[in-house]
Amino acid sequence: MSHNHEPTDTLGPAGVRHVVILGGACAGLTAAIYAARANLQPLVIEGAEAGGQLMLTTLVENFPGFPEGIMGPDLMQAMRAQAERVGAAFITEDAVEADFSHRPFRIRTQSGEEVRARAVIVATGARARMLGLPSEERFLGRGVSTCATCDGFFFRKQDVVVVGGGDSALEEALYLANLARSVTVVHRRDQLRASKIMQERAFNHPKIDFIWNTEVADIVGDGKVTAVRLRDRVTGEVTERRTDGVFIAIGHKPNTEIFKGQLETDAQAYLLPTHGMMSSVEGVFVAGDVHDHTYRQAITAAAFGCMAAMEAERWLQGEAALTPEEHWGTAEPVGESKAGAPKGGPGKGARKTARS
Ligand code: NAP
Repeated sequence: MSHNHEPTDTLGPAGVRHVVILGGACAGLTAAIYAARANLQPLVIEGAEAGGQLMLTTLVENFPGFPEGIMGPDLMQAMRAQAERVGAAFITEDAVEADFSHRPFRIRTQSGEEVRARAVIVATGARARMLGLPSEERFLGRGVSTCATCDGFFFRKQDVVVVGGGDSALEEALYLANLARSVTVVHRRDQLRASKIMQERAFNHPKIDFIWNTEVADIVGDGKVTAVRLRDRVTGEVTERRTDGVFIAIGHKPNTEIFKGQLETDAQAYLLPTHGMMSSVEGVFVAGDVHDHTYRQAITAAAFGCMAAMEAERWLQGEAALTPEEHWGTAEPVGESKAGAPKGGPGKGARKTARS
C-alpha cells in the first residue's frame, strides 16, 4: 500500500475533496489528469492492483501516439506519472465501501481510511471472466488473450481458438477471421447464446468452425501457447488440438459490487449514466469499462475519463455558486438526478437539480 497524499492537502471544509476518482487505469488516470489541470486536486483511489486490464496485456499497438506500440504496463505507468506530475494524489488501495446517500460522499478504503468528496468519478473498470485454469493465467499475453481487437493483429495467418457462445465470442471470432488463417469456436453447449444475426454471420464465414459440447480442459505450450486440451462434455473424451492462440470470450464482469443499490445499473451490473457521464446520483460520474460494454478500448476508456472529469468540473462550478450552508450545512440526503435534465451539453444546467 502506498499513500502519497498529505492529510493537509484535502480541500474544502473539514477535509472534503473536490473530486475523488475510484480506479487507477485508463479512465481514472485520464480523469485525474483533466481534473488536476482544472485545479481540482483530485485524489485517485487507484486500487491495490492499479492499472486495470492493460496490466495483463503485452504490446498495445492501437493506442495513438506510439508508432512502435507500447507495452500495456508501460502505458499505464506513463499515464500515472503524468497524472501525478500535474498534481493528482493517490491511495494504492481498493475502495471497499461507498456511501452516496448523503453529501459529501464517503468512500472507505481497505485500511479503513475514510475519504469525503463533493464529486466522485467511478472508473473501477471491468474484468474479463476467465475459465479458471492455472495455465490460462500463465499464458496471458503469450497466446491467451481476452481482447481480439487488442491482440488479433499478432495472430495474422495463424490458427486461433475462441472460447464462448455469446455475442462477444462471435464478435471476437468474426474479427479474428479477417486476420487469422482459421478460427475455431469452442462452446460448452450445443447451442449458442449469441443473437441470430451474429450466429448467421459466423456460420456463413468460411474461416470459422465450431466444436460443440466441449470445454477447454487445459492450455498447453512452452513459453507460448501451442495447443489446447479439449474435453467432450458428452463422452468425457479428452483430445489435443494445435493452436497459436486462445481468446477467452465468456463475458465481462463490471467492478460495481460496492455501488450495488446506490447507482443504477443494467441487468449485467454495468453502471448506467443517466445524462452525459453523470450516474443516477447527482455528483457521481462514471467513466470507462464500468459503464461501457460496447467499445472496451484503452482509448475509449481514456476518452470517457476526460468527459467525466470535464463534466464533474462544470458541475462543481455550478455547485460553487451555492452558499457554504447550502453545501455543507446539513448532511442532506442526495436526490436522484433527473434523467435527461441538462439538455444542450453535459454539465450545462446540471447544478441544483437535487436541491431545487
Ligand atoms: P454472455 O452473453 O453472458 O455469454 C457468455 C458465453 O460464455 C455463454 O455462451 C456461456 O455459455 C459461455 N461461458 C460462460 N462461462 C463459461 C465457462 N466457465 N466456460 C465456458 N464457457 C462459458 O456474454 P457476452 O457474450 O460477453 O455478452 C454480454 C452481453 O453483451 C450480452 O447481452 C450480449 O448480447 C452483449 N453483446 C452484444 C454484442 C453485439 O451485439 N455486437 C457484442 C458483445 C456483447 P452458456 O451459453 O452455456 O451459458
